[in-house]
Amino acid sequence: MEDASIDRWMEFLRKYYEEDVRRLSVYYPDEMSLNVNFQDIERFDPSLAYELIENPTEILHAAEEALRKSDLSTGGEMPDAHIRVTKLPKKLPIRSIRGQHINKFIAVEGLVRTVADVRPKVRVAHFECMKCHVVNKVIQQGLIFREPRTCGEGTEDEGCKSSGKIFRFLKDKSAYIDAQRIRIQEYPENLRGGEQPQTLDIEVEEDITGMVMPGDRIIINGILRSYQRRSKTGVRSPVFEIYLEGISIEREEQEFDELKITKEDEEEINKLKNDPDIYDKIISSIAPSIFGYENIKEAMALQLFSGVAKDLPDGGRIRGDIHTLVVGDPGIAKSQLLRYAAKLAPRGIYTSGKSTTSAGLTATAVRDELGDGKWTLEAGALVLADKGLAAVDEIDKMDKKDQSALHEAMEQQTVSVAKAGIIATLKSRCALLGAANPKYGRFDRYEPISVQIEMSPTLLSRFDLIFTLTDDPDEVLDTKIAEHILKSHHAGELKARGVDSEDDLANVPQISPDLLRKYIAYARRNIFPVMTTEAQEKFKQFYVDLRSQGIGSDAPVPVTARQLEALVRLGEACARMRLSEEVTEEDASRIIKVVKDSLLQVGVDPETGRLDADWIAVGTTKTRRDRAKIIRDIVRGLIKEHGGDACPIEEVYERAESSGIERQRAEEIVEGLLRDGTFFSPKHGMIGLP
Ligand code: ADP
Ligand code: MG
Repeated sequence: MEDASIDRWMEFLRKYYEEDVRRLSVYYPDEMSLNVNFQDIERFDPSLAYELIENPTEILHAAEEALRKSDLSTGGEMPDAHIRVTKLPKKLPIRSIRGQHINKFIAVEGLVRTVADVRPKVRVAHFECMKCHVVNKVIQQGLIFREPRTCGEGTEDEGCKSSGKIFRFLKDKSAYIDAQRIRIQEYPENLRGGEQPQTLDIEVEEDITGMVMPGDRIIINGILRSYQRRSKTGVRSPVFEIYLEGISIEREEQEFDELKITKEDEEEINKLKNDPDIYDKIISSIAPSIFGYENIKEAMALQLFSGVAKDLPDGGRIRGDIHTLVVGDPGIAKSQLLRYAAKLAPRGIYTSGKSTTSAGLTATAVRDELGDGKWTLEAGALVLADKGLAAVDEIDKMDKKDQSALHEAMEQQTVSVAKAGIIATLKSRCALLGAANPKYGRFDRYEPISVQIEMSPTLLSRFDLIFTLTDDPDEVLDTKIAEHILKSHHAGELKARGVDSEDDLANVPQISPDLLRKYIAYARRNIFPVMTTEAQEKFKQFYVDLRSQGIGSDAPVPVTARQLEALVRLGEACARMRLSEEVTEEDASRIIKVVKDSLLQVGVDPETGRLDADWIAVGTTKTRRDRAKIIRDIVRGLIKEHGGDACPIEEVYERAESSGIERQRAEEIVEGLLRDGTFFSPKHGMIGLP
C-alpha cells in the first residue's frame, strides 16, 4: 500500500511540480523544502487530498519518500528533503480544536505571542549497548526522548536482544536538527469582551525554524499531536496536552484581511461618504451609551482612521498612528470609552497596565515552560496590537521597565529586546489610547500631569493629544448624565424581558458599529490624503503663533516640532474620515481646534493663562519652579538661623508672604514638596530638609 502511495505522489510531482523539484535538487541542501499547494493535490486526486487530511503522518511520509527518490531531480538524491503543504481549505480557530483533531492535518491561524530560541534536537539518537557494544539508532519524534527497547531492534547489526538500563546515549555521534517552539494565540479582535485568548503551542523543525517573531500573524499547517503530562516526579497525568507539529507556515499579509468588505458594503460606504454630516455622524456613533465627551470621541475617531505613515528616503519612518491619553478622576467612563474604541478598531486590543502578562506593554525575555526553562521572547500588548489600536487602561500602573521601552515603542514603533542572548526588534505599529487615574485620587488642575500620574514628561510628550477630565459636580450636567444612564439601564431592563423600548433609541448609533468598522478599514486601506497648500499654510501659521507665545515670556520653548507632526497626522485622519484624498483648509481648522483644546487642558499655566507646553515637557512650570525654589531657600535659611534640622512652618509662610507668595499658594507648594520628599515634617508644625 505504501509503495502504491509513493508511486501516486511521484506521478503528482511529475505532473504539477516538475520544475520546482528540479530546481530544489540544484539548490539542495541549502534549500530543503518543496512547497506544495493543497489545492493542486485536490485537483490531482481528491481522495489523496482527503487521505492527507485524515492520515497525514503516513501520507506525508510517502510524499517525502517520493520527493527524495524522485527521478526528476538532476542533482542526485535528497535524503532530508521535505514537502511543506500549504493553503489548506479550512482554518480552524484555536478555540475549536478538539480531541477529534488529534493526528489530523489542520490549519490554525493566530498571533505569535512567544517564541523560544532555536535549539538543536536529536533526530537520530545513537545508543551503545553496554553488553555487546552494538550501536542502536532510534529515530526521535514528538516530545518524549525514546531509548531502545531491546538491543538490535531496528538496527542493521545483530544485537544481543538484551533490554533494561544497558544503553549509553552517544551524544556526539547522534544526528541533530534545529527545533523551535512557538506559542500562538487567538486574534484579539475575535474575542468577545473580557475573554482570555486561548493559546496553542507549535513545534517547528529544520528550515521553518527562526521564521517568525512575536506579533506576527500566521497560519500554521500541521499535525495535531498529543502527549501525556508528567509531574516532576514522573507521575503520569490522565490529561493529555496537545501541540501542533508544524508542517508549513504562511504569513497573513493584508492588514485588514480579516474584515471582508463586500460590494454592497462598498455601496453603503460611498453613500455615507457623500453625507455632509459624516464627520459628526461618526463621532456620535462612538460609544453612544456614554454621555458627553465629544472632544474625546472626536480624538478616538481620528485615532481609528489614523494619519499616513511615511517612509523617508534615508530609511527612516514617520508614524501615522495617533496616540491619545485620557487622564481623569475615577468613575467617569474612561474604561468604557477604551473598551469601545478597542471594539471598533478593525484590529483592537484592550488591556490594563495593571493586569498585563509578564510581557507587559512592550516585550520581554522570560524563562518559561514553553522553552523548557530556556529563554523565550514574549510579545506585550503593543506588539500584539501591531497595525491596530492598543487601548491601555490604567497605563500609569504599568511596569517600570515598560516606561523606558515605551518611548521607543511609541515613536519608532519598534520594541528592542537585548537580554540573555536574545537580541530582537519587534514591530509595534499601533495607535495607543491610554487612560490614567491621578495618583492622589482626584485630578488637580494646579499640578502638572507628570506629577499626578507617574509618567515621565518625555513619555507624555509622545502623545499627540492629552485630555484631562475632572468629576466636578454640576447640576445641569449631572442631571443629563443621570437621565442618560438611567434611560440606558431602563431600556436594558426591558430588553431582558424581551420588550423593546423607546429609551433604547438614545443609544442606537447613527452608523452601526459593524458598518463603521468597515468604513474605517476601507478608509485606511484605500485613502491616502495629501495636504493642500492652504492646509499647510494654516498649520504653519498656527505652529508659528504658538511658538511665538513663548518668546519673551518666562516659558522658554512652549511648543516643540512634535506638535507640528501631530497636526499633520490628525489632518490626514480628518480627511480620511470623509474619504477625501485631500487635507483641506477646513480639515486644518478642525484639527487646530482639537489640538488647541488638548493643549489648553494640559499646557496652560493656570496662573498666567499662557500656553505652556513646558508644563508637560519638564513637569512643572517656570512660575511654579521659581516659587518652589524661593520656599526652599527660605526653609534652608531658617534652619540655619534656628540650628538643628527643622524650622517652624509658620515662619516659612510669613517669609513667603513678604516675598510675594500668598499663604494659600505657599501651603500648596509646601504640601507638594512634602509629597515629593524635598521636605519632611519631624513633628507637627515643623518642617525640615532631609
Ligand atoms: P473609570 O474607568 O473612569 O473609572 P468606568 O468606565 O469604570 O470609569 O465607568 C464607571 C461607570 O459609570 C460605568 O458603568 C459608566 O458607564 C458610568 N458612567 C460614568 N460616566 C458616564 C457618562 N458620562 N455617560 C454614561 N455612563 C457613564
Ligand atoms: Mg477605569
